[in-house]
Amino acid sequence: MTIKAPRGTEDVLPGEIEKWQRIEQTARELFLLYNYREIRTPLFEDTRLFERSIGESTDIVEKEMYTFLDKKGRSLTLRPEGTAPVVRAYLEHKLYAKGGVNKFFYIGSFFRYERPQAGRNRQFYQIGVEAIGSDSPALDAEVINLSLHFLSSLGLKTLHIALNSIGCSACQPLYREKLKQFLNEHIDKLCDDCRRRTESNPLRVLDCKKEGCVSILKNAPSTLDFLCPACKEHFESVKHYLKMLGLNYQIAPNLVRGLDYYTRTTFEVVHSGLGAQNAVAAGGRFDGLVEEFGGESTPAVGFAAGVERIALAMDGEGVKVSDGKQTFTFIALLGKEYLEGGLLLLNELRRSGISAEMDYEGRSLKSQFRVADKLGVKFTIILGQEGATLRDMVKGEQEEVKREEVVSILKREK
Ligand SMILES: [Zn+2]
Ligand SMILES: [Zn+2]
Repeated sequence: MTIKAPRGTEDVLPGEIEKWQRIEQTARELFLLYNYREIRTPLFEDTRLFERSIGESTDIVEKEMYTFLDKKGRSLTLRPEGTAPVVRAYLEHKLYAKGGVNKFFYIGSFFRYERPQAGRNRQFYQIGVEAIGSDSPALDAEVINLSLHFLSSLGLKTLHIALNSIGCSACQPLYREKLKQFLNEHIDKLCDDCRRRTESNPLRVLDCKKEGCVSILKNAPSTLDFLCPACKEHFESVKHYLKMLGLNYQIAPNLVRGLDYYTRTTFEVVHSGLGAQNAVAAGGRFDGLVEEFGGESTPAVGFAAGVERIALAMDGEGVKVSDGKQTFTFIALLGKEYLEGGLLLLNELRRSGISAEMDYEGRSLKSQFRVADKLGVKFTIILGQEGATLRDMVKGEQEEVKREEVVSILKREK
């Protein structure tokens, strides 16, 4: 029996992982510049956390969660997204007590039972930020700017912002009613899911990707026509700041995102090189979520970017990431009897910060050199009874050196 990785999961192998490391390192460095600090939350949470935040009648909660009972019968769920856990931690540890805006970023894996395709796995990786504690539209602009800064730092060029506002608890219900009316007029042309959601959660219908529904939804009423004066002003300010920062955007009136907790600003960063799954980052405001979890009313905004999709987009744009640092030195032994001397030198080199490798198998000098060539080392040290020979693999020259001087010579060459 051969056991393979489960459907929808992926091994990230050496050769590919360097790209992932670049993505993660860029995120860590850049997010700190914007004063976002890293937070790590558990891979699984109390199932109710996601039911209450993402919404019971969303695709994620209805069909896509990995939910299980533990040995004490508690319902737990592998986290399908990052925002709800961050907000839970924010409340649980009273991080609001510091006052001001609390800014977090996270990097990690998430889980959704979806149909796997390019750029979409069942275990997937996201990098995200959350800024909790302000409703300033300048913060919306900062978060959108940061998502673009991050993606363009990785060499991505063909990026576009799709922008929308879906209103607040005061104006969204009006829109919801209007949308419901519209959907009911076309109810027989909608898919089964959308028919059901027209009643339970009409906004979710706007997420439907089925052709029949998409063509009906083209004529659906727009959230923007129903914004209350405060939401309208907020949205105008977000657009103003984006323009001021030189960021182009397109208004996307049906952009509601697949989670219930969003309010006001929603956005996606789309990369034109990707196919159907073309959003590399997406986010928005979630002004009601902290309160939903029992905290004081606290506005917040954030985004998450998909690492697999970023990696695909980097491939598409021909962004090259080197295979990591090469091994610098190889120790070749003139005979098995020099193994102990080799091990000591190997240890000395590595402890001096010089990457080194040797052959433990007692192979011929010729095959040892083959290994050294394969590793692409700069120097090979040939160890025998009479001290050592240092061979410069690039120049093809070699010289006799004293055993005790090998490390200091290589340190200078490094
Ligand atoms: Zn409003
Ligand atoms: Zn549908």
